[in-house]
Amino acid sequence: MLYAAAPPKQLIVIDPGHGGFDIGAQVQTLKEKALALKTATLVKEYLHKKGYRVILTRSRDVFISLKKRTTIANDTKSKLFVSIHFNSFRGQKPHGIEIYYYNKGSKWRQNASKKLAQLVLNGMITATGAHSRGVKQGNFHVIRETQMPAILIEGGFMTNPGEHAKLRSQAYLDKMALSIANGIDKYLKS
Ligand SMILES: [Zn+2]
Repeated sequence: MLYAAAPPKQLIVIDPGHGGFDIGAQVQTLKEKALALKTATLVKEYLHKKGYRVILTRSRDVFISLKKRTTIANDTKSKLFVSIHFNSFRGQKPHGIEIYYYNKGSKWRQNASKKLAQLVLNGMITATGAHSRGVKQGNFHVIRETQMPAILIEGGFMTNPGEHAKLRSQAYLDKMALSIANGIDKYLKS
């Protein structure tokens, strides 16, 4: 019998922000590094179910340099790079989700990153009911130095009491992670 070769699985790099001594933001006992890792791990599981290969830049609570993170994505020639962070502010008011892309260099990469950001943001807002702070341009190392379409998600403000409470809920993170995976899938199938 003849079998058609299975199509190669597309590789996606998911980057949980911070780690180790780099805690990121911390509000009460809630740490950005832990939230990012939890969410990224869930995104990885959902992407696996959809048939993608996934590399996490870290799968434990360890410090990884920004350079190492982009090197992992560039060396493995991943299709996409998605960094996951959570926000904080001096006051309690700001809340909502925003997604960054890098708006210089290759026009193709700019447009692709912007499109990915918009698809992921739309899905996240629908799934979580959070306020949309929009797609924004940012000059962060991980989205600047990667060679593939890349976005950096700020999944909510740990400093806003309402959002803080939601971010402590496993069910909320799970909803958020599924919507991120769905957005990535939608982009790659478009
Ligand atoms: Zn961060």
